[in-house]
Amino acid sequence: MSFTPSAMSGSDSSLLYPHLFKPLDLGFTQLRNRVLMGSMHTGLEDRARDFPQLATYFAKRAAGGVALIVTGGFSPNISGWLKPFASKLSWRWEMTAHKQITRAVHEHGAKICMQLLHAGRYAFHPLSVAPSKIKAPINPFTPRALSSGGVSRQIADFATAAVLARDAGYDGVEIMGSEGYLINEFMAPCTNRRTDAWGGSPEKRMRLGVETVRRVRGACGPDFIIVYRLSLLDLVENGSNWSEIMVQAQAIEAAGATLINAGIGWHEARIPTIVASVPRAVFGGLAGKLKPHVGIPVVATNRINMPEIAERLLAEGGADMVSLARPLLADPNWVAKAHAGRPETINTCIACNQACLDHVFKNKTVSCLVNPRACAETRLDYTPAANRKRIAVVGAGPAGLACATVAAERGHQVTLFEANDRIGGQFNWAKRIPGKEEFNETLRYFEQRLRETGVEVKLSTPAGAETLRGFDEVVLATGITPRHPSIPGIDHPKVVGYLDVLSGRVEIGKHVAIIGAGGIGFDVAEYLVHEGLSPSLDPARWMAEWGVDPNFETRGGLAPPRPEPPAREVWLLQRSAGKPGARLGKTTGWVHRATLKAKRVHMLGNVEYLGVDDEGLRVRVAGDEQLLPVDNVVICAGQEPRRELYAALQASGTEAHLIGGADVAAELDAKRAIAQGSQLAATL
Ligand code: FAD
Ligand code: NAP
Ligand code: SF4
Repeated sequence: MSFTPSAMSGSDSSLLYPHLFKPLDLGFTQLRNRVLMGSMHTGLEDRARDFPQLATYFAKRAAGGVALIVTGGFSPNISGWLKPFASKLSWRWEMTAHKQITRAVHEHGAKICMQLLHAGRYAFHPLSVAPSKIKAPINPFTPRALSSGGVSRQIADFATAAVLARDAGYDGVEIMGSEGYLINEFMAPCTNRRTDAWGGSPEKRMRLGVETVRRVRGACGPDFIIVYRLSLLDLVENGSNWSEIMVQAQAIEAAGATLINAGIGWHEARIPTIVASVPRAVFGGLAGKLKPHVGIPVVATNRINMPEIAERLLAEGGADMVSLARPLLADPNWVAKAHAGRPETINTCIACNQACLDHVFKNKTVSCLVNPRACAETRLDYTPAANRKRIAVVGAGPAGLACATVAAERGHQVTLFEANDRIGGQFNWAKRIPGKEEFNETLRYFEQRLRETGVEVKLSTPAGAETLRGFDEVVLATGITPRHPSIPGIDHPKVVGYLDVLSGRVEIGKHVAIIGAGGIGFDVAEYLVHEGLSPSLDPARWMAEWGVDPNFETRGGLAPPRPEPPAREVWLLQRSAGKPGARLGKTTGWVHRATLKAKRVHMLGNVEYLGVDDEGLRVRVAGDEQLLPVDNVVICAGQEPRRELYAALQASGTEAHLIGGADVAAELDAKRAIAQGSQLAATL
């Protein structure tokens, strides 16, 4: 699907999202619609040899209709590197490779800005600098406090980098003034203790950001886009307050910025801002709060993943543009599909962070759980198959769905067998967890994709070896069976499996022990402590629970957290030593742990299970025997591959491919299941 500039008229009354597709006039240039692709570090920025892939990745999003792309962050000098040898633009020779990116984007009618990001005290190396010598809680390196001459040199370096970006063909730059990086550190009292011309009063604290914009404008001329990423909500103690933010926005405008893009929350903030449990567009109102006070367009951001939310924000006058980042990893054609009035065809970002942000922290190239082609467009190719085959896929969980739809997209004749009366496999349980409502979107997407690609779907049809005769290829995606550990008393009536709980098959008492603190143990704990409407669907309750000022006025935007009482008393247990949840995702695990802590869940490691009886669960914890007086014990002790069919097929001489949980159950997640299904289908 490709989007041409001529197909973008906002005057077309047939458009489902008219405000989203109204061009934005910036005076010296026009944006074809209101979608800005927000900056994401993909890991491809750091080495020029990855630029051809980076150019293809951006070109796909440009072809998919985005108006303005912002690249991942490039530092204006070495002290501002995110990590040693990370992306940087300070020399002319570094600029040349960028031309392939700007050319590729312009060919598809989009515009592109380079983000200039100085990491400040978040720099993961010993050369880091900051306004004051104060270590960030999330970084082992203590920064050096910049001298006042050093501050001036940073501004000069920003201007040099901006000129190089302009010469590489970028339409502009985004100056990163939020998320707790250098410029934001100067702005906030918690990180700026200076008493010279760059600290003290709000005017002096904001000076670095304002001077940087002024110098970049002076160096790059009037017809160059300057997006300023302004922290509208720091979410840290002693951050900026609203009146300071407003004054800063006005000064940034006066200094020559073209657009203000909202930034929400510092990286060290202990309030989540983008994970799945954050309500959609919960911070969208901030752009609207700022808009009446400035004359330049303001961009709303965070958890805007479907067009109706974007349209609502724009239609209500709450923003001039919307920033989508991860949603465009998930679906490069998001904009074109919205333009066509086909939101049901969008592969929606479920805000899991599993293949994007979590990869950044593991130094792996970013991709996407629901779209394994993201940042791998040149490697994972779905070209039409040379020979049309008859393919049977057994199991309509994520692995089977991905495999069936990609194989059919490539031209194969695919039959998908599913024992259940609906598609989705374990996603049907995952979507019931408070904060995982987005999983519904993946199920809706695959329903749609099965129809579009013409897969023959046979529900309520458990496949046996007989059923699978006569196919050219057989793929087993039969998933897993929950593990049944051998604990004394495991057959006691109070012991139940996690599927019994999530399906509502059994009534669960007020005191519950969970055996196994992996991803599913944590999810079941969240399910059991919550009651009523999920806070993720109720922004006001969510803000109250986490401690966000509903008026966004206070310093850092913080308010005292008011967690609601837990629906049950829950013990979450594991045999291994250490903190339960240590193996959860880097960018999401802390949110799960904090949620359960607020709900007073007892999280215990180093537990030996002695037995279950009428009185409860008997355990030994660090040598001490204890009775947990629980009504139920829920088993979440991992899974085993479900592949009895594989043995039957082998016995009958039929070859089969194994994918997903049927292949390896240990450490299985949907990222692996979907990637494996897609990769296999690309080779059949
Ligand atoms: P499954 O999803 O198990 O699907 C297998 C399918 O095969 C089933 O529908 C089954 O009915 C069908 N089947 C089996 N035998 C036959 C047969 N003979 N004939 C026809 N059909 C058959 N993963 C993440 O990445 N992130 C998360 O946040 C996450 N949260 C989760 C929360 C919960 C509560 C649960 C239960 C799981 C969660 N997961 C999560 C795990 C994720 O859902 C699994 O990794 C993924 O579903 C595995 O996909 P699969 O296709 O291999 O198997
Ligand atoms: P898991 O992560 O492997 O956890 C299994 C838990 O059971 C561990 O706590 C393990 O800890 C315990 N256990 C294992 N064998 C046991 C035994 N014989 N007796 C008692 N306890 C035992 O598996 P899971 O929680 O079932 O999750 C399945 C997969 O789904 C995971 O790989 C996960 O990635 C994925 N998932 C991901 C998310 C997410 O948010 N990303 C959420 C849900 C699920 P001890 O051995 O220390 O006791
Ligand atoms: Fe969204 Fe998850 Fe994909 Fe990241 S990995 S883009 S959060 S769906």
